Amino acid sequence: MSAPLLLADGLTVRCGGTVIVLNADVAVEPGAVLAISGPAGAGKSLLLRAAAGQLPPGYVADGHVSRPERVALVPQNARLTPHRTLGAQFAEVLGGDAPARAVLALERLEVPMAARRLSLYPHELPEGIRARAALALALAADPQVLLADAPGAGLDPTVRARLLWLLAAWARERRAGLVIAGRDAAAPADRALHLELGRLRPPPEPGALPEAAPSAGGAPVLSVRDLRVAFPVGRTWLGGTRWLGVVEGVGFELAEGETAALLGETGSGKAMVARAILRLVPAAGGRVAWHGRDLLTLDEPAMRHERRDVQALFPDPRAALDPLRSVGEHVAGTHAALIPEEDAAMRPVRVTDALSRAGLPLAAADLYPAALTAGEAARVGLARALVTHPGLLVCDEPTASLDAADREALVGHLLHLQGQQRTTLVLATEDAALAFRMAHRVLVLLAGRVVEEADPATLRADARHPYTQALLAVAEGRRPELSGDPPSALRPPGGCPLRLRCPRAADVCADSVPVLEPVRRGHRVACHRWDEPEGD
Ligand code: SF4
Repeated sequence: MSAPLLLADGLTVRCGGTVIVLNADVAVEPGAVLAISGPAGAGKSLLLRAAAGQLPPGYVADGHVSRPERVALVPQNARLTPHRTLGAQFAEVLGGDAPARAVLALERLEVPMAARRLSLYPHELPEGIRARAALALALAADPQVLLADAPGAGLDPTVRARLLWLLAAWARERRAGLVIAGRDAAAPADRALHLELGRLRPPPEPGALPEAAPSAGGAPVLSVRDLRVAFPVGRTWLGGTRWLGVVEGVGFELAEGETAALLGETGSGKAMVARAILRLVPAAGGRVAWHGRDLLTLDEPAMRHERRDVQALFPDPRAALDPLRSVGEHVAGTHAALIPEEDAAMRPVRVTDALSRAGLPLAAADLYPAALTAGEAARVGLARALVTHPGLLVCDEPTASLDAADREALVGHLLHLQGQQRTTLVLATEDAALAFRMAHRVLVLLAGRVVEEADPATLRADARHPYTQALLAVAEGRRPELSGDPPSALRPPGGCPLRLRCPRAADVCADSVPVLEPVRRGHRVACHRWDEPEGD
């Protein structure tokens, strides 16, 4: 084995009297990829900064670190200089032959039309290109070791995963060392470590994760038919309104105690379907029947009454918390707003019951939002949703703000609740692993339409749509085959909305938007080439 390019021996990072990382040993050989995972706040970023010799003021490192001459650190959410073109920023790093090397570095990370991007300012670039350009700036300097802190955080899963695999391919080809901190980093890595409570250790073995109990079946209690959502985006030549359809013809049915997952990335329409069911955005058409009552046609008092039974979980529960009100006041406030006729003397009992069903100790009622961890804030959101004993819970990315441990705890708790109370769930998520664990039926959405639907076992074994296959690949730690970024919703390509990213795209894909066709009973797919053998 080659001698390590980067070697940290007994590295300890302190801030005042607080030890953040204790006695960490890290070795990265040429061409090796090391992933470092850990919960939020574990000190991954500081470990990378200490390894690069770039700790912020106030922090000190002890121990021995040997590093090569050219080490590049790309911090989390690395920003480009806003008032300089991309080309000028490459020139600052590279000097004379900047354009050629800049184009190579950008193309290495699959930035399309790389040469043309050099004359643009950061605000003129899409988010995915900005993230890749920040990494390309580091690659262009040909570092011997690259330390990348959560590269692509905030991008869609397929785009982020593809980026990690491209970085790993760069390191192996250039015989450089690569350290990636953050979630999903283990997939393309040769070795993984986990930082928790200041200690760097091998990652914990994943335990047996709970999954949704099999459905008992039964008559549908939720029936969504031909749901459409559209927003006005301007005027036509004739003075009419121009509409942008963000959800087109989505439909599904759920029996009591079942879960439907709406799986897709940014712009897929999953959150809009969830919000349209809740009537938080107006539907342009369709029907949402809950126990036979069409929620879309109820008047406001009737819908208000229905909200007792149809509740929601949102991605950032803190955003809905007033910093000046206690947890108990929040939960009681939800109860008072939705069941005003009940005797106020009963509210403390309802609050206690909701907190306990959400897995919070009763003492949490006296806490204020600032004292809550992300996991506790999510439980408060759940307690507010449960205080009216809803039959339907619509969850929009309920684990988005949580680290792995809190995510597992909340998912386990939701599944437990569903098993006990036969709550019907609609889950909108970009996380295929979560969707496949929790759902009885998965609808994969792309550009506002369902492109594949089946039960999780069928999709795991025989996903036919390239987009479903890419989402599954990310969930299973494989390299997704989609390239590039999702197109703008305002300027989608003609034909299949995936065709500019799809590895199987052919001329026929530009002809028309594919419609859902049956593959077998309970499994439908919308792809012009679903029944052609792969590889053609
Ligand atoms: S229709 Fe064509 S571009 Fe769209 S998913 Fe199928 S093969 Fe890919």
